[in-house]
Amino acid sequence: MKDNDCIFCKIVNGECPSYKIFENEYTLAFLDISKDTFGHTLVIPKKHFENVFECDDFYLQEVIKTTKLVANHYKNLGFKAVNILNASGKEAGQSVFHLHFHILPKMDATDFDAWPKFKNDAEDLESQWNKLKM
Ligand code: 5GP
Ligand code: ZN
Repeated sequence: MKDNDCIFCKIVNGECPSYKIFENEYTLAFLDISKDTFGHTLVIPKKHFENVFECDDFYLQEVIKTTKLVANHYKNLGFKAVNILNASGKEAGQSVFHLHFHILPKMDATDFDAWPKFKNDAEDLESQWNKLKM
């Protein structure tokens, strides 16, 4: 299924260019357009799903497998670590509504900070657990 207004679907079908890092039958990894950090990469399913809430399990598995493959490739190139991030929903900061995982390869602990610093003042864990357990 293709979403006609989706920029990532256009990248998948070749209507828009991208710097492809890896591609297989089900997934595509390409450089994020932002140039914010060296190697910032997006991994997407070739089929349109809005985010993790919608994505079927098969494609989700393929996306995480490709994410691991690209992360290992970056490690082999000399990066020490990666942050892997996903925003599902606009309140979480999602701006392109075609599922994607960000890979941010890191050369060292200080080159940038992809992890927010929290105040650690949420309610106690037992109270959270009582509200959240499945
Ligand atoms: P989100 O905010 O949804 O988690 O991330 C969307 C990402 O897509 C952003 O980091 C943004 O820079 C990237 N992006 C948006 N439009 C394009 C595009 O046309 N090409 C590429 N390569 N990346 C894009
Ligand atoms: Zn799409």
